[in-house]
Amino acid sequence: MNNSVINFPLPANEPVKAYLAGSPERVALENELQRQSNLVVDIPIIIGGKEIRTGDTGQVTCPHDHKHVLATYHKVTAKEVEMAVEAAMEAHKQWSRTPWTTRAAIVMKMAELLATKYRPILNAATMLGQSKNIYQAEIDSACETIDFFRYNVHYASKIYGMQPKDGVGQINHTEYRPLEGFILAVTPFNFTSIASNLCMTPVLLGNVALWKPSTTSLLSNYYLMQLYKEAGLPDGVINFLPGSGALIGQVATQSKYFSGIHFTGSTATFNSLWRQAGENLGKYISYPRIVGETGGKDFIFVHPSADPKAVATAAFCGAYEFQGQKCSAASRMYIPKSLWPEVLADMKRMAAEVKMGDVTDPCNFINAVIDEASFDKCKSYIDFAGQAADAKVVMGGKCDKSVGWFVEPTVIETTNPHFKSMEEEIFGPILTVYPYDDDKVEETVELCNTTSPYGLTGAVFGRCRMAVEKITDALCYAAGNFYINDKPTGAVVGMQPFGGARASGTNDKAGGEFNLIRWIIPRVIKETLVSPTDYRYTYLK
Ligand code: NAD
Repeated sequence: MNNSVINFPLPANEPVKAYLAGSPERVALENELQRQSNLVVDIPIIIGGKEIRTGDTGQVTCPHDHKHVLATYHKVTAKEVEMAVEAAMEAHKQWSRTPWTTRAAIVMKMAELLATKYRPILNAATMLGQSKNIYQAEIDSACETIDFFRYNVHYASKIYGMQPKDGVGQINHTEYRPLEGFILAVTPFNFTSIASNLCMTPVLLGNVALWKPSTTSLLSNYYLMQLYKEAGLPDGVINFLPGSGALIGQVATQSKYFSGIHFTGSTATFNSLWRQAGENLGKYISYPRIVGETGGKDFIFVHPSADPKAVATAAFCGAYEFQGQKCSAASRMYIPKSLWPEVLADMKRMAAEVKMGDVTDPCNFINAVIDEASFDKCKSYIDFAGQAADAKVVMGGKCDKSVGWFVEPTVIETTNPHFKSMEEEIFGPILTVYPYDDDKVEETVELCNTTSPYGLTGAVFGRCRMAVEKITDALCYAAGNFYINDKPTGAVVGMQPFGGARASGTNDKAGGEFNLIRWIIPRVIKETLVSPTDYRYTYLK
């Protein structure tokens, strides 16, 4: 008998473990890194809980050691995508009607399992497969994923508790129904937590999903499927479909049961999915919910009153942690000419101190970019700047793909605020800097606001609070997540719900309740206690 009103209070954020040499978490992680390094996992398609192997396979390799094969995976064909739609709709019958507190209990169990048994497994897989160092893996595949689970349960309890008022002789209430079909979750390589969240937020609310994981994060994503199963998620609620995104997107958006996309990735991919949904609109039962967090060209704007040391640290960490492959990574900076020499010298000192290499060596601050395409893209921008009349590479710039996809932390300095790498997303460890005349703050703020089509993250640095206020206001639409005297990366669930507008997405703020609202269709029920039996209003009598 389930008749309790269960409270899920605002949780605390999962503490980031220190991983000091010899600590229990470090020993467990090292053992797991060794175990996974010696395996070649065979990753199946999972539909309705059943593992399917098509025999058409691809490989998952270590970005920092690209000859090291971590896994092979089986690619879907159109037939498996259609099977997944059927399995999802079958699961919908029960899951959508499962008491929400039961769904919440399963999600809370996921958090507990990940905080304990699965922590080294997910961290090791994210380190090896996505080339994150210990810290970057811990804050992503452990802490942020756990936070998404726990916070979403809390937000769901708030939403379910939002009820209309009663009137005289009537009872009103709102049922928060899941959507009447399946969600297509299309996830990026760069955060294991996002891969988890794009499925699990709709699923917590009673939805079912087809999950298209990124090929370059398949190892950690496959372990997520194991975690979900162990926590008690019924078969068919999430169907795991490795393979071509174009194919999966095309087949899924043809189905009449297609009821939403939960996407994170590049703007171009999102636009193509949106177009496909638009073209098939007449086929659907309902208007699909389309939620996408996409690219960025995130900035640091430095006022002449800023502390150069703070700017250098923010630029270095904001641009180069996880090799600049965070959607929020700083990739362009506007800095007064008077401050630039000192800031650049400090950044060069840091670059000389940090080491780059394999994730299993904890001394390495910088690891590899995700794949050869990303390596080539980074190199092409660096080469372009090296040959341009209005730009020069003033820090880093070396690229080496002999063992892994390594790109040095790089600064391009330009005299042209519209230089190619000031405008386009590269998604690698490359920061382009435009030093401006100290007396041209206002004009340069306007440049910052209008240079790129994106609006994801941005930061302003300055010790003059009034100037900072003015800049913050002028850049009101330039970023969905804005930072004052801090780097533009590192959003934490519950503290800085994340997302941007303009070409950066629909800004439905993962890590906050706004996102959850997209995955429900409310039904309002009015019950009249004694039904009227006379049609005449009093004025007629
Ligand atoms: P991507 O667009 O290449 O891939 C994202 C997903 O889409 C992958 O699963 C991919 O296989 C799939 N895909 C590719 N082509 C497809 C198609 N035609 N139809 C359907 N699916 C397709 O992005 P990525 O390289 O994995 O991630 C990097 C991008 O993600 C960057 O642009 C970054 O800014 C963005 N990102 C944004 C946020 C945010 O919150 N705004 C967060 C993380 C990453």
